[in-house]
Amino acid sequence: MKQKNSAGYRRIGLTGGIGSGKTTAAKRFAELGAKVYSADDIARRALDPGTSCYDRVVSAFGESILLPDGAIDRKRLARIVFSDESKRTLLNGILHPYVIDRLFSDADQDFQAENFRIAVFDIPLLFESGLDAQMDTTIVVASDTETRIRRVIERDGISREQALQRILVQMPDEEKRLRANYVLDNDGSKDDLCRRVDALYELLRPEESNV
Ligand code: ADP
Repeated sequence: MKQKNSAGYRRIGLTGGIGSGKTTAAKRFAELGAKVYSADDIARRALDPGTSCYDRVVSAFGESILLPDGAIDRKRLARIVFSDESKRTLLNGILHPYVIDRLFSDADQDFQAENFRIAVFDIPLLFESGLDAQMDTTIVVASDTETRIRRVIERDGISREQALQRILVQMPDEEKRLRANYVLDNDGSKDDLCRRVDALYELLRPEESNV
């Protein structure tokens, strides 16, 4: 399979609804030697002082969102954006382009130094954001809804209602399945999932001459 981007390495988009096992699959890809870039990790660090995103958020929302030490008061910002849709749009308009840019620029920069073959981009909103179009291959991790609810309750210590609410606001698994090139079913054990990741990695790993 030839890559369609000109980055020099194969871009694989990995997604899945909350509790599907996406992070677990991403870890396995990393163990196998793929470079893994997480949109959530970048988004978490995006508001740290010193980033261009920090500067833009402070100029958009004002210094009243700052704590005495200069850090953004994330709880306060969350309250603002969750109670006002136009503010939420404003924040997303700053955050999303930053995250996308960092995902690809981090990978391109690492590629210059390490010359790897496969980068896995762990992106919860892969299809919703349209970023799937920039990938050579897309993978969705999918699990039964009841299983996802149980995992999220255990992992995040939230109620069944909260877990269900988080699941219901996302694109349904059925739709992701239809859009993805590959589906990793994760209704068995973690070992089962890892075996499926191993098999898929073998399939996706480019031949020496292909890169
Ligand atoms: P996501 O990133 O899709 O939200 P995670 O990979 O974090 O999901 O998995 C959610 C929780 O379920 C984690 O605590 C993880 O260890 C656990 N988990 C994932 N897959 C399995 C599995 N096949 N069997 C048991 N627990 C699992």
